[in-house]
Amino acid sequence: TVGMVSLDAQGSMSVGTSTSGLFMKKPGRTGDSALVGDGFYCDSEIGGAAATGLGEDIMKGCLCYEIVRLMGTGLTPQQACDQAVYPFVEKLKKRYGKAGEFSLIALDKAGNWGVATNVEFTFAAGDGEHGAKIMMATPGEAGTTK
Ligand code: ASP
Repeated sequence: TVGMVSLDAQGSMSVGTSTSGLFMKKPGRTGDSALVGDGFYCDSEIGGAAATGLGEDIMKGCLCYEIVRLMGTGLTPQQACDQAVYPFVEKLKKRYGKAGEFSLIALDKAGNWGVATNVEFTFAAGDGEHGAKIMMATPGEAGTTK
């Protein structure tokens, strides 16, 4: 999945996802990327979030809605990502004995971003003036330039 969250000069926000779904998926499967709140969610007065990874697990946590909800309580995007994703990964492991791999990005209406992953993933953050910086995230490590 490719996911994107954007904030324009007027303060309007949007989120988008594009995916081929999972390899060898069953016909008719609908992944998280097509579902509001699971693979993406946005509220221009708060922020937005997008997900990639195992949709079946992302959907169990409504993770994008949860991240935006947490940002709405005053958490930064990074705090919201950490708080939504890491306890949820532990919950999945406890309940099912495993957690699929997934990664989340978030942006708030002030332009602050955050990420969380239980694998390793590459993302980019930037603005219209300075371009985008490509970074790497690992579990608990938000973004290092490689
Ligand atoms: N999230 C997608 C799905 O489960 C897969 C992906 O991110 O590659 O359909």
